[in-house]
Amino acid sequence: MFDNIDKSYITETVRSLMAIDSPSSFCQKAIEFIGQEATKLGYGFSITNKGCGVIEVKGRESGKKVGLAAHTDTLGLMIRSIDSDGSLNFTKIGGPQLPTLDGEYCRIHTRDGKVYTGTVLCKSPSSHVYPDAGRERNESNMYIRLDEQVRSADDVKKLGISVGDIVAYDPKTVITPSGFIKSRFLDDKASVACIISALKEMKSAGIKPRFDTQIFITVYEEVGHGGSPMGDGLSELLAVDMGCIGLDLGCTEYDVSICAKDGGGPYDYEMVTRLRNYAEQAKLDHVIDIYPFYGSDVGAMLRAGHDVKGALIGPGIHASHGMERTHINSLVQTVKLILLYLEAK
Ligand SMILES: [Zn+2]
Repeated sequence: MFDNIDKSYITETVRSLMAIDSPSSFCQKAIEFIGQEATKLGYGFSITNKGCGVIEVKGRESGKKVGLAAHTDTLGLMIRSIDSDGSLNFTKIGGPQLPTLDGEYCRIHTRDGKVYTGTVLCKSPSSHVYPDAGRERNESNMYIRLDEQVRSADDVKKLGISVGDIVAYDPKTVITPSGFIKSRFLDDKASVACIISALKEMKSAGIKPRFDTQIFITVYEEVGHGGSPMGDGLSELLAVDMGCIGLDLGCTEYDVSICAKDGGGPYDYEMVTRLRNYAEQAKLDHVIDIYPFYGSDVGAMLRAGHDVKGALIGPGIHASHGMERTHINSLVQTVKLILLYLEAK
């Protein structure tokens, strides 16, 4: 079963999600899109007070309720102050690798719904002028060059731009003929696409998960508290978030990664073992890994005090929080593991 996962549906869902700017706290449109997809597939959908999307999937059995989670919020920037010459200083949302942002195109979303474009640059941007043009990049020596004729802070304010406005930088999504998906924010929009694809596969095959399932699409994961309200009424929760690649880790861009332990400690022993068994029996391309610098929505939920088992899987994402890349095979393996977990004979 599920030998022919619809790859183009996965990549088109990734592409559609990437086209919607959604730094943490600015996810309303992304959640709307996810709600539309879930509704089209015939699943119930609601939005919590905090803005998290919840998809309800009826199971074959009652008595136990399980959860799935992925986050649609991304890293981003926010206007911190406006200099007298009209250049925009920024503060980070989450933990982007700032040197990789030098030269990136961005969109400034004002609170009145206007959108302006600009470029993230170093304050010594020209090689022909600044002796330190090659300097280290950090928040204090970078700024946003606005694509408007402004000469003063007042000119900027007249456009409706102000401190606290969201700045979303371009994900630069490219899908190559060789099956690579190059884009920022694969963490974690790739996993959201995997979950929606799993729902679509279940719908097409006319099957239900074993247990009633609640799927949370969270909106504050990158700042640490996305998953904290989840857990009420659940016996277990599986987070689908990016798998780490590098150093002595085993994961590649072709695998689904099962996390045994991250920065918050080990995940539920029985669930990790169960996920490993599904992956082994189905001969999925998979690895079990330790993520050294990592926290997930499951960790946020557990620290909020919920008595729920938790585990974490996800597609292998290279160069996370920088210019990321994965391969379609990794997403297919992830969709399959989600389906095996939900189907659970
Ligand atoms: Zn993530």
